Amino acid sequence: MHDSFDTPHARTVEPGEYPVWGEALALVDHDLVAHLPDRGPLRLVAMPAWPEEGADDEQVTEHVYVALPDGRWHGNDLPPEGRAVPAFALADVAEAAQETVLGCLWQVWPVCPEHRLGMHAGVEDGQAVWRCAGGGDEGGPGHVQAPVGGLAEPYRSRAERRKLRRRKGENNPNNQNNRNVGSNGGNGGDGGNAGKPHPEG
Ligand SMILES: [Zn+2]
Repeated sequence: MHDSFDTPHARTVEPGEYPVWGEALALVDHDLVAHLPDRGPLRLVAMPAWPEEGADDEQVTEHVYVALPDGRWHGNDLPPEGRAVPAFALADVAEAAQETVLGCLWQVWPVCPEHRLGMHAGVEDGQAVWRCAGGGDEGGPGHVQAPVGGLAEPYRSRAERRKLRRRKGENNPNNQNNRNVGSNGGNGGDGGNAGKPHPEG
């Protein structure tokens, strides 16, 4: 794992420096918030290329990573050649975001609401999409769940939503009045593996 606050040469990428990746990140952020509220917004950080790389290829001046709001990232840099095609750039950013979330927060994201499997970003018919391997027989073709940037919040139970709202609005005294409203939203069988605690470190 890398921490841009501990890595002296890392810098935050300013808006507009890499417009294709910047726009892709906004879409990926939407999907992150849809399934993991409180984790975004993600940002782009850049590290200078190693000196020996610069000698070979003048074009590679720095590497760009997808980082958490606190500056940590995990995994590979965004492939510069992917920027030529927005759909591929979007899939690249989605994949990098996924690696960062998994490597830094130990959370599988995004999860298919139907099959409860971690999905993977890819490009299909010229569009960046989230694919799930579930459905049909084992080893079957799987299915496309949503375009990247188009994930809904379909599977959070009412009880979970209420818990999130409560966490967000803890300072709001009006919340106490909502206690008796719709209190049988969940049946308790939905704990799953969401909300794993932060790794120590
Ligand atoms: Zn699925």
